[in-house]
Amino acid sequence: MKRAIWWARRDLRLTDNQALDSALAAAAQVIPVFVIDPGLLYSPYAGEKRLAFLWAGLHNLDERLRQRGGYLVLRRGDPLVELTRLVAESGAQAIYAEPDYSPYASRRDGRISAHLPLHWVDSPAFRPPGSVLTAQGQPYSVFTPFSKAWKALPGLRADTTFTSPQRVPVPAGLESVAFTEASGLAVAQIFPPGEMEALRCLRNFSQAFREGSPDALPRIYRYTSGRDRLDLDGTSQLSPYLRFGMLSARQAVTAALQAIQAAPSPEARQGAETWLNELIWRDFYFHILYHFPRVRRENFRLPHVPWENNQAYFQAWCQGQTGYPIIDAAMRQLLHTGWMHNRARMLVASFLTKDLLIDWRWGERWFMQHLIDGDPAANNGGWQWVAGTGTDAAPYFRIFNPIIQSRKHDPQAVFIRRWLPELAPVPEAYIHAPWEMPVELQRSLGCVIGVDYPAPLVDHQEARQRALKAYTAARG
Ligand code: FAD
Repeated sequence: MKRAIWWARRDLRLTDNQALDSALAAAAQVIPVFVIDPGLLYSPYAGEKRLAFLWAGLHNLDERLRQRGGYLVLRRGDPLVELTRLVAESGAQAIYAEPDYSPYASRRDGRISAHLPLHWVDSPAFRPPGSVLTAQGQPYSVFTPFSKAWKALPGLRADTTFTSPQRVPVPAGLESVAFTEASGLAVAQIFPPGEMEALRCLRNFSQAFREGSPDALPRIYRYTSGRDRLDLDGTSQLSPYLRFGMLSARQAVTAALQAIQAAPSPEARQGAETWLNELIWRDFYFHILYHFPRVRRENFRLPHVPWENNQAYFQAWCQGQTGYPIIDAAMRQLLHTGWMHNRARMLVASFLTKDLLIDWRWGERWFMQHLIDGDPAANNGGWQWVAGTGTDAAPYFRIFNPIIQSRKHDPQAVFIRRWLPELAPVPEAYIHAPWEMPVELQRSLGCVIGVDYPAPLVDHQEARQRALKAYTAARG
């Protein structure tokens, strides 16, 4: 074949890219294209920070292609129209792409497959949806048996090596939207984009020994104990890279398997195994969204929870003004950085759905509008899990206590102080529940509750009872 198209979507990398490799194997020249779809750009779920990360990632991909004699073609418009045009202009005989599983992506891809010679290769998941099924051929809706079946399948190898093409020969002169137009938004500073950064971040987490540190093990080996601490870098922070495929799921799983193999102690091994488990959760939610697309709009279970949906409460939650420091610190971290720690995601989601009785879909949308790693499958799965409406949901009566959780996971309040400067003078004894400070002390510190920092929106114990009643009613 003379020419083929590589349609880049959630796989913005050259290393371990099977869709690109297939195009290169099939054709003498390959056209790498990314189509900016206005349907996604202007959707209520689009997020400025995520788009900024995407633009920067596309720039990076273009640079890497140029080092290999090629370039990235950038088009803007309906993907079917743009790809049809590109096929006509270039004479390409086939299109290679990695599948995607959101209901929007499935509809779009179904339409394109019906008109163009589109070949699906590989998957953003390690185990593609449809490959992990019960003995009766049914999808799993509970995580533990899913993960057992996932682990029992072949293909888990620690010695997998990854390559990238030396050259990507692209025909000259193809029209492309200017990158400057696309990169009008500020680029995220905290997550430098691109596959080299992703690899650096992965190595840093799974291989780097800190010289001279008494606790010199790579962080993956301390994951079990460090992952819930909000004040430490206990997790990999790879989610934005995995979200856009700057790192493949295979690369991440291989790193986990290598760490398991090389673990110096049973505790260290446990850390690496727990991290592998998180990657399996990622696959699990891809599978759930694929097999049960209704979860995008509906509760998986519990037909109706009587949400109160108080707008003022919702706005206070969004802006980090609930009066509960751990919740507010996490929500402000999200607003400023586009990322939030997993434990914090669970706490703020529980607070919104249980303490404030606000529909999980409101929180899900806010997260999508702000998260760099915002992903329809993982985000939906996470929200429904915490709300108690999901597949493998937390029991409805598990309602996180924001004060106890704060003391446990941010013991010196380092995380709280980082994001809530107005609480800087508050002594450690009061910082997790500052409304308990005597009024005289509040005045003398210049941090009066209700003036300098909000009074709590609700009393957690009362809110808990209200939520239990509402959920009991929903369960019939
Ligand atoms: P690590 O702890 O280092 O984990 C490694 C990788 O495993 C992550 O990068 C991620 O790709 C995957 N992973 C970890 N935990 C989960 C999980 N529970 N579900 C699915 N995948 C997981 N994750 C997203 O990638 N996008 C989202 O939009 C998203 N929304 C969430 C919403 C809620 C309410 C909750 C409770 C969780 C959500 N998560 C989401 C899952 C999890 O919080 C993030 O993946 C994690 O915090 C990313 O940080 P990390 O890369 O340091 O993770």
